[in-house]
Amino acid sequence: MAGRSLSLPPALQQELICGICEEIFSTPKDLPCLHTFCQDCLEQRAKTGQPFNCPICETRVELTPEVVEQMPENPAILNICDRIHNQAVMPQLDDDSEEEDEEAKSYTFCKTHTTEKLQLYCVQCKVPACTECLDETHAGHRMMTLRKALDDRKAVVTSFVTRGKDLVENYCSFVQGLRETEKNLHEQKKQADSSIIQAYEQMIKKLTETKETMLRDVNNKHHQNLQAIRQTRDPMLTEVYNLTVACDAVNENLDHERAEFNDQEKNLIRVVKMVTEKVANSPTPLPTPPLTPELLEWDT
Ligand SMILES: [Zn+2]
Ligand SMILES: [Zn+2]
Ligand SMILES: [Zn+2]
Ligand SMILES: [Zn+2]
Repeated sequence: MAGRSLSLPPALQQELICGICEEIFSTPKDLPCLHTFCQDCLEQRAKTGQPFNCPICETRVELTPEVVEQMPENPAILNICDRIHNQAVMPQLDDDSEEEDEEAKSYTFCKTHTTEKLQLYCVQCKVPACTECLDETHAGHRMMTLRKALDDRKAVVTSFVTRGKDLVENYCSFVQGLRETEKNLHEQKKQADSSIIQAYEQMIKKLTETKETMLRDVNNKHHQNLQAIRQTRDPMLTEVYNLTVACDAVNENLDHERAEFNDQEKNLIRVVKMVTEKVANSPTPLPTPPLTPELLEWDT
């Protein structure tokens, strides 16, 4: 097939060019972020073992040669790129332009009467003809010169080409619009991400503050409770000690039948009476500090 340099519209080119090698894609593969790059380009990046961020949206992608291999191909883009790589020609309309040298040449001589030039065109059969053909197969058919037929045809085709080009332009501006929309969506996503992160960080900060306040309050309460226990216990220890001393003293004098016995006995009776009165006046002999109920307050 004849090679033809296609003039790709910029909007189309933009869709077909790899952001890594900046050439037309070879085996385009889609990343999870839906941006497309050549398989070779991705494999080369994967081989470096370095972390990979999508060059377009900066999304982190875990790249290994196996992962790249399994990434989905983009069939539509692949098809176009293959056609470009194979220098495939878009379906052409006959008699389109002067560029078609080879096809023009094939019309120069008649295929049946190989020495005769094709100079005529049968309007009825819509085929070129030579003077021999005219007599043999187109007797009585309306004829015109091939030149004139080509000119007429060109006028018709040109209007189609113009319409085609208009359509291309419309599509291209639509594609361009999609690009813009995509860009805006990325921007919106970035903003949504950052406001989520910001809200999260504020919540964490608040929670941390609340946690610290609560721990501090519980600690204070705990300290007060311990203080209360101590205030109850310490005077009691003094009483226990006094009683022990008084009891021991009396016992000792009883054993040795000493004269001090009388004084010791008076002292013991006094101490025992005093402690007994104290215990009697207290609502509970061993007051329990309200430890548990107070602390439960801080569980919520
Ligand atoms: Zn590439
Ligand atoms: Zn991306
Ligand atoms: Zn002929
Ligand atoms: Zn004819």
